[in-house]
Amino acid sequence: MLIPFDALVAKIAALFRANGCTDPVAAVLADNCAGAERDGCKSHGLFRIPGYVASLRCGWVDGAARPRIEVSAPGLIRVDGANGFAQPALAEVRARAAATARSQGIVLVAIRNAHHFSALAPDVEPFAEDGLLAIAMVNSNCEVAPFGGRKAVFGTDPMAFAAPRSGHPPLVFDQATSVVANGEVRLAARRGEDLAPGTGIDRAGNPTGDPKAILDGGALLPFAGHKGNALLIMIEILCAAIGGGRFSHEIDRTGFESGQTANTGQTLIVIDPTAGGGALPDFVGRVESLLSAAREAGQERFPGDRRLACRRDSYSRGIEVSQETMDSIEALSQTDPARSHAR
Ligand code: NDP
Repeated sequence: MLIPFDALVAKIAALFRANGCTDPVAAVLADNCAGAERDGCKSHGLFRIPGYVASLRCGWVDGAARPRIEVSAPGLIRVDGANGFAQPALAEVRARAAATARSQGIVLVAIRNAHHFSALAPDVEPFAEDGLLAIAMVNSNCEVAPFGGRKAVFGTDPMAFAAPRSGHPPLVFDQATSVVANGEVRLAARRGEDLAPGTGIDRAGNPTGDPKAILDGGALLPFAGHKGNALLIMIEILCAAIGGGRFSHEIDRTGFESGQTANTGQTLIVIDPTAGGGALPDFVGRVESLLSAAREAGQERFPGDRRLACRRDSYSRGIEVSQETMDSIEALSQTDPARSHAR
């Protein structure tokens, strides 16, 4: 069936409220989850809802958390996510981060003790819509073996970048640092399809493209071999060591075994590209000239093209959701008696 975006947001918000989220947290998460589905990021949209609900119901993540903001230095804002979700923590600090980037040229926001279970594009895109550059990174569940290693140490640790453009929506890329995102492995396993050979390793450390072997005690591998491995080390350090979050290999679900979200860290760097003042050439003009050079060299498809096309299509036709998924949303929207007091 085809569902309008706003109707889908309302349904998901009700589901999150019924599972112990406060109204503001439910609103932020629902917009994010429906937004991923609308933008064609199926691995981080409705597919994730059972994982959110399981994590809330066992008390692994707090849907009523109140993040605490600490300004540690003029250009460094630390946020304690209070074991809640990262997106509401970011919503809390967003205006302050943008204002600091404008007054100082750059700011680093380090969110710790927070769970991120979604795409990163929605975290950076709004900054670029306001004329700022943004880079975001998250370290996630321990599922990626280091280059040459035999067991998982890193997360699939995504990173995203958004830059304002002239007369166009911002340029946004958003990607995992593993060969593929974990959601893609789970979707392939569900479809019974193999991934490319060498996407991961099995539990004995042998290279494999079998999604079940990767999920069953194996691990994913970094994209681009040692180069992706270097980025993984950087992301783990920036997300967990600066802000005080957990490294991916430090996540401990003892007592919360049905929790699926990752309680780690998220780091954002926000830059005002006009901070150099009149001495610098027009920033957005420079972006356009770079993209034109790539286009003239033959690049036809740019990061974000597919996402924005999906978004346009979703707004004009509605978002395609299967009856099975709608039934599951309905079932998971029944208030969990164990958690209903949390609101
Ligand atoms: P993809 O490999 O599908 O895409 C990565 C980026 O490359 C996108 O910006 C995409 O643009 C762009 N792109 C894809 N194909 C081309 C092409 N042919 N030419 C030019 N650009 C291209 O993403 P991943 O599978 O790596 O990640 C999927 C999602 O998973 C991301 O949103 C990520 O944040 C999320 N994730 C979240 C985690 C978490 O813990 N929260 C962990 C890991 C991943 P476009 O969007 O337009 O396709």
